[in-house]
Amino acid sequence: MQAEVIAVGSELLTPSKVDTNSLFLAQRLGERGVPLVRKCVVGDDRRRLAAEIRRAREASELVILSGGLGPTLDDLTREAASDATGRKLVFHEPIMDDIADRFRRFDRPVAPVNRRQAYVLEGGTVLPNPNGTAPGQWIEDGLGILILLPGPPRELKPLFEDTCLPRLAERMPALRFFTTVLRVAGIGESDLEERIGPIYSGAAGIETTILSAPGDVQIHLRAQSGSEDRARVRAEALGAKVLDELGDVVYSRDGTPLDETVAKLIVERGYKLAVAESCTGGLIAGRLTEIPGSSQFLAGGFVSYSNGAKTGWLGVDGDVLAARGAVSAEVAAAMALCARRHAAEALGEPAVGLSTTGYAGPAGGTPEDPVGTVYFGVADDNGQRVHRRSLGRGRKRVRALAVQIGLELLRRRILGLGGA
Ligand code: AMP
Ligand code: MG
Repeated sequence: MQAEVIAVGSELLTPSKVDTNSLFLAQRLGERGVPLVRKCVVGDDRRRLAAEIRRAREASELVILSGGLGPTLDDLTREAASDATGRKLVFHEPIMDDIADRFRRFDRPVAPVNRRQAYVLEGGTVLPNPNGTAPGQWIEDGLGILILLPGPPRELKPLFEDTCLPRLAERMPALRFFTTVLRVAGIGESDLEERIGPIYSGAAGIETTILSAPGDVQIHLRAQSGSEDRARVRAEALGAKVLDELGDVVYSRDGTPLDETVAKLIVERGYKLAVAESCTGGLIAGRLTEIPGSSQFLAGGFVSYSNGAKTGWLGVDGDVLAARGAVSAEVAAAMALCARRHAAEALGEPAVGLSTTGYAGPAGGTPEDPVGTVYFGVADDNGQRVHRRSLGRGRKRVRALAVQIGLELLRRRILGLGGA
């Protein structure tokens, strides 16, 4: 069974209101093994909506309409569904009684427009809505299933969960799912695709989703089967093949994000981390302190943005800074070493230092080190290592990438892996 969602409402076509119902429906359907294959937003326009319903029903077995069931004249989902299915709208007395009851409970007179909400498509099933006046409707015929749901999320969600999902489950074979999630840093999406595309595209019955963010790619491998054990075996077998191909750029096999992965490693090794951040301006420390219990592994750090902060607070040699410039391998190394030394001295514990210095842009840069160039330093008991990366344009993006790459370089250093 494949599903489509049509979100109805002219407000959803403006910048002020976002269609969130389709996200909820996508999630719940996906969990039950019903892929959402298309979704769209249609304004309060009877003709366009009827055409869209007809098209969707021809293409997909399950079509869910959200919204447009209100009492006001702009809400036209009932009428459009009637046009599209050729079913008459018939007045349903029990719905009107419920609506009247509701109004009595809130001590309000029933407005005449509310009568509109008591009309249902001939032959349809009424889905009671305990949280609002408009009930849902369920139509089933040779084309498949058409569901009409009220727009307010607090009405749609429980109605779908409590009434629609059980009805759908009765009409589907029982399926179980298992998803293996691998996470990768330091490799671009297209590189990744080239390497693992042939592996997952050859795996029948496993749905692969690649989600990418700056410096971070998630590979979701979702298998379905009659039993969860069988689904797990299949997803994990494919995961092992992907892991074989990618090797140590995979930093997580259970979906754990990079910051938590690194945090766990630092704790295991008994280190304390100190950061010296220039172009990332504290973003690395910020990311790490989002993790509860971060005092276990984070000693602290320096937002050593100006040259004076690099020399005066951190202790970078002023001559080196003057000779090489703030964005240089030498200064990155010195920043990491100084951060590490400060932490080790202050805490009397083994420490590791991580530094960033670069041109986030839009201005700045030199012919050798243009905007987007970032140097990273990692220092530990065994000395220090510097890495240079060209991260392209866009201040926000460069800084986000630098955080991710800094953490990945730290992970590699702690694990004794090559520089990547
Ligand atoms: P309606 O059923 O069209 O009268 O919608 C009532 C209210 O529900 C709207 O004013 C929106 O605030 C909300 N709503 C409708 N559709 C959606 C949607 N797809 N996602 C989130 N909220 C919605
Ligand atoms: Mg509406």
